Formats: sequence, C-alpha cells, structure tokens
Amino acid sequence: MTQPTAHASDSAIEQTWRQLVATARRTAAEGLVVGTSGNVSARVGPLILVTPSGVPYDRLTDRDVTAVDLDGRRVLGTLEPTSELPLHLAVHRTREVGAVVHTHAAHATAVSVLVDELPPVHYMTADLGGPVRVAPYAVYGSEELAAHMLTALDGRRACLLGNHGTVAVGETPDQAYDRTAQLEWMCRVWLLASSVPGLAPRLLTPEQLAEAGTRLRGYGQPG
Ligand code: 13P
Ligand code: ZN
Repeated sequence: MTQPTAHASDSAIEQTWRQLVATARRTAAEGLVVGTSGNVSARVGPLILVTPSGVPYDRLTDRDVTAVDLDGRRVLGTLEPTSELPLHLAVHRTREVGAVVHTHAAHATAVSVLVDELPPVHYMTADLGGPVRVAPYAVYGSEELAAHMLTALDGRRACLLGNHGTVAVGETPDQAYDRTAQLEWMCRVWLLASSVPGLAPRLLTPEQLAEAGTRLRGYGQPG
C-alpha cells in the first residue's frame, strides 16, 4: 500500500510544520488564545499537519511533527492530535485551503455570544468574503460543531463559533492567522461602536462591500 507520506516530501513537511508552530505560538503571544487553547492545521499533499492537543506551543520542537490523513488516522508522530480534528478535517475535505487557524480571541468570542452575524462595520468584511456568520454552539471537538462551522464558513474565509471563538482559513498558516487578527479587530470595533449609548453603528451596504472587495483584489504591490 502507498504511504500517504510518500506524496509529501520530508522538506515540505518540515517547512510547513515550522510555519504551523510559529503561527500557533503567535496566537498565544499576541493574546488570541490563553494557554493551550486554539489549534492550527496545514495541508501538505495528502497530509494534514495539526497541533497536538493540550501541548504548550513553546514546547513544540521539530521532532513533534503530528500529521493525520483526511480520514483522521494519525500517520506521523506520537502526540495526540488536536481535539478539534473534526473541525479541521471538515474544512480540508471540502475546501481548497492550505491552513486553518482556530482561536478563542476575546472580542470575537464576545461577539459570538451576542449576534448571529458580525454587522459589517468595516470594509475589511469584504476580505473575509462577506459578513462573518456565527455557527450555533456545540460542544468543542464534536462532529456537530464541525458541521455548524462548515455551514457558517460557506462562501467565507472566516466564521465565529458561538460561545467559543474563531475559525479562519488561508493558503498558509500566516494568511489564516492574519485573517483571524483582522476578524478579532473588526469584532473589537463593532463592540466599541455599539457600546455608545443612544447611537447605533452605521453599517456598510452589500454594494459598498462588493466595491471594497473588487478594490481589495488589487491591494498592495503588483504581483
Ligand atoms: P486542543 O488543545 O485539543 O487543540 O483544544 C483546544 C481548543 O481550543 C478546543 O476547542
Ligand atoms: Zn476552541
């Protein structure tokens, strides 16, 4: 039988693992998670590299590479994969993404207990594919949570998990991280704006978001 790892070079696995660990460390260093909360996955060919469950990110070394196949069978490493494996696998099975980042970012989690969708207060909503939905609550690590998340993520690059946190996807762990940070910042802006007594935030229209989305495709340096 062909081993799944046969289609992913050792150097690609090594490089992606380092990116994944760096991103996981950043989520803790920049306050988007506390302790060992949150998790990161990244795809290398047929393999899904994942953070191990409950291991402080600063303790992860190059020898701790943890990988599963798309059926969730561990194919590399000895550590137990993240408890949110159903959530990560649900994304990698259905979307062409390179990485998934899950956090418990404070402002995003606060928004997830208040509304079913983050009101579009800022044009960066367009960068996430449109207004960010909140998946209904289900216990962490469950197939039910994964299914709710997948529905909320449809046509989007990020969503919120009710009474829980964030999920964002990207081509790389870095990109999924940046979207997470952007989402957390927008949640903070909405909470700030909506907490002024007697005033309600002015929201962007679908047309304004579409216009921003078109412009964002040309954002930054050419190429
Ligand atoms: P793990 O440590 O198992 O990845 O779980 C953290 C988490 O955020 C569960 O939702
Ligand atoms: Zn979580």
